[in-house]
Amino acid sequence: MNKTVLVICPHADDAAAFCGGQVIHFANEGWRVVMVRVTNDQTDSIGLSPAETIRVNTEQMYQAARILGVSEIAELGYVTDCLGDVSRVELRERFIRLFRQHRPYAVLSFDPYAQYEPNLDHVVVSQAVEEAYWTATFDKHHPEHLAQGWQPHSVCERWYFARQLPAITCAVDISGVIEQRIDALAAHVEMMRNTLNQLKLQLATWGRRVPLLDAAVESGDLRDMLSVWVKSRARHWGQQYGLDYAEVYRVERFGGLEAFCQRESVPLPGLESLPMHNRPWFEV
Ligand SMILES: [Zn+2]
Repeated sequence: MNKTVLVICPHADDAAAFCGGQVIHFANEGWRVVMVRVTNDQTDSIGLSPAETIRVNTEQMYQAARILGVSEIAELGYVTDCLGDVSRVELRERFIRLFRQHRPYAVLSFDPYAQYEPNLDHVVVSQAVEEAYWTATFDKHHPEHLAQGWQPHSVCERWYFARQLPAITCAVDISGVIEQRIDALAAHVEMMRNTLNQLKLQLATWGRRVPLLDAAVESGDLRDMLSVWVKSRARHWGQQYGLDYAEVYRVERFGGLEAFCQRESVPLPGLESLPMHNRPWFEV
């Protein structure tokens, strides 16, 4: 089998912010991790021009990707915070193309059925990924890809993350890699300054300030503040599943036919498959 995973993210910082622990696990286990950044992040900074913002955020994305163990980055280059104006069918074609080109075992992405998601880029990408996963198997969707030598492909597992998942099927122990994940997030200095500045402005509207937050936004030394943020969320999930720190996912595969596939499947000649049982990510 092809030990490749695709991490499809609207923005440079999404991987470190939402699924960094599992990305590090995949990389440590020898998987080839391809990160797809859909937009150029041109709005995500404080006080920089759009061109300078793209340059700085891209540079910091490569630093974060090195920390996460990402092998390769594919850039789609759409304008950030404007994917609501982009056709989901157009985006779907970009993802089908990537599935056929890289033939990943798994894809990590935002959950298309997530609740309380305020970012339209996240919503649009998640819906296009969900459709691309099954339309990529059709020979009549984008036959021009087939003419280029690519074949229909079905991603085996979709690992969906979200601010709030509609259901959790998997809790991953990230206790051993949490500091590495925080380092990766802290590498996105400019994007995280802008993220924390949103909270600072909201606090100001309330009539208050948090000195730790102000110091982080002003100095760009964000690690302490991000550590509080990442650990509180990871501890919350960890406590529910008997772990120190956890990430949670909704992993989908086989459309409810898992038991049938476990019972009836036989190995494909010449192809190594993952162990069928002993899958810690299905314990929840
Ligand atoms: Zn994002």
